[in-house]
Amino acid sequence: MMSDTKVIKSEAEWREELTPEQYQVLRQGATERAFTGKYYRNKESGVYHCGACGVALFNSDSKYESGSGWPSYWEPVDADAVVLKRDLSHGMVRTEVLCGRCESHLGHLFDDGPQPTGLRYCINSAALAFEPGKE
Ligand code: FE
Repeated sequence: MMSDTKVIKSEAEWREELTPEQYQVLRQGATERAFTGKYYRNKESGVYHCGACGVALFNSDSKYESGSGWPSYWEPVDADAVVLKRDLSHGMVRTEVLCGRCESHLGHLFDDGPQPTGLRYCINSAALAFEPGKE
C-alpha cells in the first residue's frame, strides 16, 4: 500500500491539519535543529510514518546512530515510499527526500550510510509519526 494513491491538499488545508513546526518542516522544507528532534534517540521497535499523510516510510530496523543529530535510516520501507529531488538551496547540491504519497519534505539523502545500501536518509523528527511495536 504505497504511493498508488497520491494525497494532494492545498497549503491552507495542510496548515490547518499540521502543527506550526510540522508545517514548517513538511511543507516549507525547514530543518529542525540537530539533536533536538523527538525521534533522534528513539530505539524502540516500530514504524515511522509520514507526519502529514500517515503512510509508512521507515522501519526501526533500518534506523541507526549516524551522529548527525537527526534520525537516520539506511533504507525506506519500500522503494517508492519516498521520492528524491535535486535540491540546490543554501548554496549546496543535495538530494531532497520527499514523501512518495503526499510529497511533503522529509529530509535529505547522503551517501555516507552503512551497508548494505551505503545510504543515509537524514530525516527530521518533525516530519515523522512513530508507531511502536509493529515491523
Ligand atoms: Fe506523506
